[in-house]
Amino acid sequence: MIGGGPAGSVAASALARKGHRVAVFEAAEFPRFKIGESLLPNGNRVWREIGVWDKIEQAGFVRKEGAEFLSADGSFAVHNVFAQGLVPGRDYTYQVDRARFDQLLLEHAREQGAQVHQPARVERLEQRPDGWTLTTRGGERYEADFVLDASGRDSLLGRHLELQRDRLPYPKRIALYLHAVGVAREQTARGGNILITRLPAGWSWFIPVSEFRVSLGVVTTPEQLKAFDGSREAFFWQALRQSPQLAARLKNAEAVGDLHATADYTYSHTHFGDARYLLAGDAACFIDPVFSSGVYLAAESSFLAAQYLDRALRAQRPLRKQEARQYTRLLKSRVRVMRRLIENFYDDDGFAVFMNPSDRWQLFAAVNSVVGGCTELPWQLRWRYGLFNTICALNRRWRFIPRIGGKATASAVEEIETAKRF
Ligand SMILES: Cc1cc2nc3c(=O)[nH]c(=O)nc-3n(C[C@H](O)[C@H](O)[C@H](O)COP(=O)(O)OP(=O)(O)OC[C@H]3O[C@@H](n4cnc5c(N)ncnc54)[C@H](O)[C@@H]3O)c2cc1C
Repeated sequence: MIGGGPAGSVAASALARKGHRVAVFEAAEFPRFKIGESLLPNGNRVWREIGVWDKIEQAGFVRKEGAEFLSADGSFAVHNVFAQGLVPGRDYTYQVDRARFDQLLLEHAREQGAQVHQPARVERLEQRPDGWTLTTRGGERYEADFVLDASGRDSLLGRHLELQRDRLPYPKRIALYLHAVGVAREQTARGGNILITRLPAGWSWFIPVSEFRVSLGVVTTPEQLKAFDGSREAFFWQALRQSPQLAARLKNAEAVGDLHATADYTYSHTHFGDARYLLAGDAACFIDPVFSSGVYLAAESSFLAAQYLDRALRAQRPLRKQEARQYTRLLKSRVRVMRRLIENFYDDDGFAVFMNPSDRWQLFAAVNSVVGGCTELPWQLRWRYGLFNTICALNRRWRFIPRIGGKATASAVEEIETAKRF
């Protein structure tokens, strides 16, 4: 495994538990700061499969029972309660401090029998007919039959092999984020929810990561950031305070550490594997984090990748072409489910439908399940989610549900049109 984030640790644990010899190379020393703290309950199945769920439950992370969405002026609020989803058994998960969470997962992989090299940055990859030779920054060389690229957005193998990427019709975006203390939080079970607010500048997240700390983020466009007359920090706090609800919560907020920025983050490789390698997690593709799907997709993809690798290792053969294709197809179909939700969020007319939920035909319950990460759609969820997306598309054309006050950024459709011109 190249990378000891969630994707690398899940695949390493799964393969080690099946008795394979697995090595993980992680460039960073843990614990280290990492963004992406809000998990989805549909991922709990993977944590259980690799035997780490009890450790997660006992680690003292903040319990997350749902997601809340607010319009910019606060006049519309939607509360997605996981327990009220259409698919049962996905009632809660956790908000995790990634420094601790990633360390816990990697330690678990080690306990399952994986060899963990850390800090060990893989710098060179040489392909042989029957595998790979990896060279780390320290000059050590290792031989492997297969490589799972779990190096995150560094996407080591993708860059090394110059793998083709899909053309995605999304405009550039930039995320600014930090941890803060002194933030007012609701002291009920809802206090552990993620709060997503549509803002004039884009949108923001509010994730309680411990009793005292909150992860705050603003996602905007580089153009809006450039047009602002002031520092990034000033932009960040001003954007958050444009929401009356956030302004009230942040009255005494104090940043812990620096403001971080991540730009241009949506991409997808065209193929996620071949005879001697697979890509998992962010190394395969990355989508907008508004629905907190990154860690879930990383875990799901690497667990699936481990199943293909297990079969090939047992039979002492390379991965078959159709296996690599099937892996890509399965993962892309899951990602597509989340992308539809994201596109509707960014589109003013889709957002209006999302913020006016109807439980006719249990449509709201179906959306709840997708917000909880259900990306493999059983029939009763598939048709309802399809209908929800159709209503969003019809609203784009006929606007029978009016756009919501506190106009946000240009609608996604306009943004996509602009992006296409470049
Ligand atoms: C702004 C933002 C907000 C987000 N919010 C959320 C959220 O709320 N919820 C959520 O689920 N997801 C969120 N995400 C996404 C989430 O962070 C990622 O999807 C997730 O971390 C992917 O896991 P991974 O294991 O694939 O990659 P990573 O977690 O990035 O792990 C990759 C690891 O590989 C190591 N590595 C890299 N190169 C090498 C190399 N050459 N050799 C050895 N090791 C290497 C790195 O040090 C790293 O530890 C967010 C992302 C961003 C950018």
